[in-house]
Amino acid sequence: MQLNGFNCMDCGKDTYQSREYYMLRNDVWRRICPDDYKGMLCLVCVEKRLGRALVLSDFPYWNINDEAVRKLNLLSENCVIK
Ligand SMILES: [Zn+2]
Repeated sequence: MQLNGFNCMDCGKDTYQSREYYMLRNDVWRRICPDDYKGMLCLVCVEKRLGRALVLSDFPYWNINDEAVRKLNLLSENCVIK
């Protein structure tokens, strides 16, 4: 697997292709990723590391998050994220 800046650090999924680019609030990101500020995680792996489902308040209100938040709602509806 070719790792680039967009691959999920945990599962290797290409977050650019899946359009999972987003920013979490700093304190949330630091909790799940204390050593790596530059890596990417897909939404599923973020929730695994957090140990809970992501909620809207984990995201700052930036345009960059629109796609991720839409995707999150979609995933939750389909119960993909456990
Ligand atoms: Zn992942």
